[in-house]
Amino acid sequence: MKNPFWKTKTFTQMNQNEWESLCDGCGKCCLHKLEDEADGEVYYTDIACHYLDDNTCRCKDYSHRLQLVPECLQLRPQDVAQFNWLPKTCSYRLLAEGEELPLWHHLVSGKPELIHQLGFSVQGRTVGEKTIAEDDYQERVVHWVE
Ligand code: SF4
Ligand code: SF4
Repeated sequence: MKNPFWKTKTFTQMNQNEWESLCDGCGKCCLHKLEDEADGEVYYTDIACHYLDDNTCRCKDYSHRLQLVPECLQLRPQDVAQFNWLPKTCSYRLLAEGEELPLWHHLVSGKPELIHQLGFSVQGRTVGEKTIAEDDYQERVVHWVE
């Protein structure tokens, strides 16, 4: 593709399909996070939202997710200034920070499975939130997310 839309359009110029297609399907934003109140640093755990499918790395009920999980956040173009909580590999954060999409991104490679094959998704690495007590979340902090 000579002039792909993510290089020629701003977030607010993209249509809904283009906007949604930016998601690489890594599933990392569906992991529970801990925030250090002192400096605002965000730490990812391997504890996944109950609705995350650990195999496909997709939401099991995407269309109803906001009703089912009050903490689930809808990414919107106008909220770009707040994207710094997203993992550093997240396509929305990369583009918001003026970076390129990685070569393994499905829009670049044409291969949706490549992200999983190369280990850039959460596939097979999460534990369900119902199996972990909240007091134990700190022990589940992981560093492979970034
Ligand atoms: S972290 Fe970003 S790219 Fe990955 S699933 Fe979430 S929104 Fe999509
Ligand atoms: S409800 Fe939200 S946080 Fe949970 S799996 Fe679906 S998209 Fe991810």
